Amino acid sequence: MSWSNWSGSVASTAAVVRPKDEAELAALVRVATTVRAVGAGHSFMPLCASEGQIVSLEDMAGTMVVAPDRMTARIPAGWSIKRLTAALWAEGLALANQGDVNPQSLAGAMATGTHGTGRDLGNLATFARGFRLVGADGEPRWCDATTEPDLFQSQRLSLGLFGIATEIDCAVVPAYHLEERIEKRPWGEVRERFDELVEQQRHVEFWLFPHADFAILKTLEPCVPCEPPTSTSDIEETTFRRLLDVGAFVPALIPSLQRIMMKTNMNGGRRGPAHAIFPSDRTIRFEEMEYELPRAKGLAALDEVVGWIRRKRLPVAFPFEFRVVAGDDIWLSPMNAGPVAAISMHQYARMPWQGLFAEAEAIFRAHGGRPHWAKRHTLSRDDVDLLYPMAERYRAVRRTVDPTGKFLNQHMRELFS
Ligand SMILES: Cc1cc2nc3c(=O)[nH]c(=O)nc-3n(C[C@H](O)[C@H](O)[C@H](O)COP(=O)(O)OP(=O)(O)OC[C@H]3O[C@@H](n4cnc5c(N)ncnc54)[C@H](O)[C@@H]3O)c2cc1C
Repeated sequence: MSWSNWSGSVASTAAVVRPKDEAELAALVRVATTVRAVGAGHSFMPLCASEGQIVSLEDMAGTMVVAPDRMTARIPAGWSIKRLTAALWAEGLALANQGDVNPQSLAGAMATGTHGTGRDLGNLATFARGFRLVGADGEPRWCDATTEPDLFQSQRLSLGLFGIATEIDCAVVPAYHLEERIEKRPWGEVRERFDELVEQQRHVEFWLFPHADFAILKTLEPCVPCEPPTSTSDIEETTFRRLLDVGAFVPALIPSLQRIMMKTNMNGGRRGPAHAIFPSDRTIRFEEMEYELPRAKGLAALDEVVGWIRRKRLPVAFPFEFRVVAGDDIWLSPMNAGPVAAISMHQYARMPWQGLFAEAEAIFRAHGGRPHWAKRHTLSRDDVDLLYPMAERYRAVRRTVDPTGKFLNQHMRELFS
């Protein structure tokens, strides 16, 4: 059976194997030449493609166990964010933050530094407290901040290089409800007020169509307990899908189509359990690049990219998404130099994206940006060394735990062998 990622841009003819328990997983890793773990396949970079096997933990048996102090839960690593947040909710618990969809596996989301938005909230890898891994020798091992601390540091944002995670101790918080508000506002106003909103709101972000003068502002604030929402999405995608199909056929119409799109009523919102409000349906396939920039440089970088797109009337069909994430101390995290502005650039999957992303990437790099590991980027090994002072120590840990390069694929070999 062949495998492809969510957007359809990465395919692999490698066999996908689905062990039913850890013993079966260990046995197959022991004899494998090369093997890559896959979660929900939501990464845009060729992280899961493999020259040997691809292993999915979807069918693995396992249950969640909440620690007696209720500060962490031990969670089967292959569980989706959707499944684990529902299980946590049943225990009166939640994740402190989530991204904008929830099919990703916990292991996959942590392995790439997946994040939501919020001034004081780190990416999901910062929630990791310990990992049970099947190593390259097929033996299970445990790592946390005190047991094998270098392995733990590397495994927090692992890109699948250090073993196959089967269980993860994850920080959790008491269950809470959220109120979502979506408002269409003039772009100039959102730009001017954004820093103030970041200070005031637990979660704030905006989307900006590059050719339109309005932005879509989204905030999430804790609220009193209420019923689950009736809608599973922040924004209705039907009109957008129609405009995208027209734009893909006649790209020159994209600037006018975006202005038409922004004339429609965008305002809305939902209330409910946090795990039901964070995620939304994303049914339109797109390709994505995301750069994390020092917070103070984010808006200037966005201005420059949008200015370039407008001047050249470039057919960038999707809006930019602008979020904020707290800093952390993870060796390979793009947030490890302090808080960041995360700018996502998307393109409709049916339209060319390579040239557009390449030019925008140069602008983001010039503003001190580092890419999201799961999303499109063209970093070389030298770039990784330049951007990450701990890269060589990360590689040293990898060489120790996987001397034959069992968990490498071509992309990983180029950057980390
Ligand atoms: C529609 C959509 C929305 C998205 N929204 C966001 C967002 O809001 N915020 C954000 O930051 N990102 C977002 N992303 C990116 C996404 O969160 C990341 O690509 C994430 O890694 C996907 O999780 P996954 O389970 O699909 O992992 P995969 O893509 O399947 O794998 C990612 C990495 O994890 C490794 N891995 C997977 N399972 C294991 C395991 N058990 N042990 C060891 N390694 C493992 C893989 O080898 C690979 O290196 C989005 C992507 C899409 C397509």
